[in-house]
Amino acid sequence: MSSQTPESLADAVLKGERRAIARAITLIESTRPDHRADADRLLEKLLPHAGRSIRIGISGVPGVGKSTFIEAFGNHVIDQGHRIAVLAVDPSSKRSGGSILGDKTRMETLSVNQGAYIRPSPAGRTLGGVARRTREAMLICEAAGFNVVLVETVGVGQSETTVAEMTDLFMLLLLPSGGDELQGIKKGIVELADLVLVNKADGDMAAAAGRAVAEYKSALHLLRSAARDWQVPVRSCSALTGEGIDAAWDMVADFRRQMTENGFLDERRRDQNQAWMWNEISENLLQHLKDSPDLAGDLARLEAEVRAGQQPPVTAARHLVARFLAGPGKM
Ligand code: GDP
Repeated sequence: MSSQTPESLADAVLKGERRAIARAITLIESTRPDHRADADRLLEKLLPHAGRSIRIGISGVPGVGKSTFIEAFGNHVIDQGHRIAVLAVDPSSKRSGGSILGDKTRMETLSVNQGAYIRPSPAGRTLGGVARRTREAMLICEAAGFNVVLVETVGVGQSETTVAEMTDLFMLLLLPSGGDELQGIKKGIVELADLVLVNKADGDMAAAAGRAVAEYKSALHLLRSAARDWQVPVRSCSALTGEGIDAAWDMVADFRRQMTENGFLDERRRDQNQAWMWNEISENLLQHLKDSPDLAGDLARLEAEVRAGQQPPVTAARHLVARFLAGPGKM
């Protein structure tokens, strides 16, 4: 990586060179400070060329058929003349396994399709860190000419909300069995959706899928969609047979057209960018505070005192922030 300047790497990304895309994403995922400086130069060069894709978030409980769906959906979208990048937000994943390509059988045909680029979730301890890198990877893929970006989440912790906050449209995959609780869906997740798909609507499960669609339709009818003048479509599909996959893409295209015309998409992205900036500020400040050599002793001592119940957490936090703000030398 060191032999290439961020500027020449950016040029190669803009030409859509796959190795350059991979390198660029590895660069932004790096936590080394010198890499970070290079990553910032790279992103600055790419940013004017980013933002032109439709960004789709997709979630659902493990086993609902996300990877099967992404494979069918991705191949269909490519057949329509588009290029699709698939990214993931999975703070629980280690690089070695659990993430998109950890299991080689996932998305077998899509991963070899020239119209697709698949990148597993970056390793990271915090959802914030994983989210930041995924956002940046999204910009890189867009600059490289991918006009559809799919961000998958496995539904751990707050990851659905995080993905909804970085995409234009949030798609929720459900099982043909009834009831949120039965399906292990967390409260509030259905309300994030702009499009609901009941998967596995085939064979023995077709009838149940039909009932689930009717149930969710009436439930969602009572809710106001987050998007403007948009009644959230609830449909069934089968990622296995391909039934309903083309309709899913048509609904995405409808959403994009309508939300572009009424200005909602622009507004959503503006809000997202503003929120992203504040997230960056929080992450940055926190990292500086944690890394501050002047505070190292205090941090460990106060942490221990709080754990032992000798200090109220609020008092300890205030003390640390005050010392951090006073700066070195004044402590
Ligand atoms: P993920 O954990 O959400 O990514 O789910 P997978 O895509 O790995 O699918 C889990 C299981 O469900 C696999 O055995 C798939 O073959 C199966 N599956 C996925 N989609 C369908 C479908 O539309 N119909 C049926 N019958 N099975 C499906």
